Amino acid sequence: MRIRVLDILHQTMADGPGFRTAIYCAGCKHACKGCHNPQSWEFNAGKWVEVEDLLEEIEADEMSDVTFSGGDPFFQVDAFTELARRIKEETRKTIWCWTGFTLEEIQASEKMSQMLPYLDVLVDGRFIQEQRDTDLLFRGSPNQRIIYLHGTPPEDVIPGTVALEPLR
Ligand code: SF4
Repeated sequence: MRIRVLDILHQTMADGPGFRTAIYCAGCKHACKGCHNPQSWEFNAGKWVEVEDLLEEIEADEMSDVTFSGGDPFFQVDAFTELARRIKEETRKTIWCWTGFTLEEIQASEKMSQMLPYLDVLVDGRFIQEQRDTDLLFRGSPNQRIIYLHGTPPEDVIPGTVALEPLR
């Protein structure tokens, strides 16, 4: 299985808390007005990378947790689910995933919801340019939520954080 990848950032501190390996995938259909990265909408941008190779690259950095971003990883949900499952089985790394879908839209889809058990945090929702707020951490507009899918957020909680009842 493979993922269409735009870029892989190592030890980034901009894509969630702490050091992270960030996988930026190609392809997004949400077409948010004012999107910070419209070149990521194209599904043929970037290159194919095997899940196995991504896993190897992620595991090679023992310090870093993992971020899925794009584009929107949920447009390649089968391969990302496979990658997330393997990360959870083989490492203790946390996974943060950015998406333009809301959690409710994902939960309503059997296909998309298959990835939720393997993600720690979902940052959800489309970017709304009229509500743009540059003071928000990890979000572009306040409708977007930082959702801990399976438990209690850390004590130094980031504004905009939502905790759900455990899904696992
Ligand atoms: S979901 Fe993200 S990548 Fe997609 S159009 Fe909206 S802001 Fe851009």
